[in-house]
Amino acid sequence: MAYVIVDTCIDCKDASCVACCPVDCIYEGPRTYYIHPDECINCGICVSVCPPEAIYEDADVPEPLRAFIAINREFFSPAVTALGSPAGASSVGAALRDHPTVAGWTATPGR
Ligand code: SF4
Ligand code: SF4
Repeated sequence: MAYVIVDTCIDCKDASCVACCPVDCIYEGPRTYYIHPDECINCGICVSVCPPEAIYEDADVPEPLRAFIAINREFFSPAVTALGSPAGASSVGAALRDHPTVAGWTATPGR
């Protein structure tokens, strides 16, 4: 179980969640942020501070947005950033690339 950032964070990037995460597991890409699925401790604190309501517990991600569970995980993979598990976003800074689905994102139908 982990929390997941979905489409409404794209190009918003308010970053309130980053400031309140007790384990620094919310990582920055060019267009959005990503929660590290293995570093998140599932405290839920970030949910209440996100202006566009872009953060869900993975089990509660709405059906049309469930691809974001994989998007958050794959951001850290060798195919995207190769960040692995750095154990702290502040130590790595902003990544130079987004997950390809986010990089090419236009809009979610019906949102
Ligand atoms: S608070 Fe919400 S919109 Fe802002 S960076 Fe975090 S997830 Fe994205
Ligand atoms: S649920 Fe807690 S640990 Fe996970 S990203 Fe949000 S604030 Fe950080």
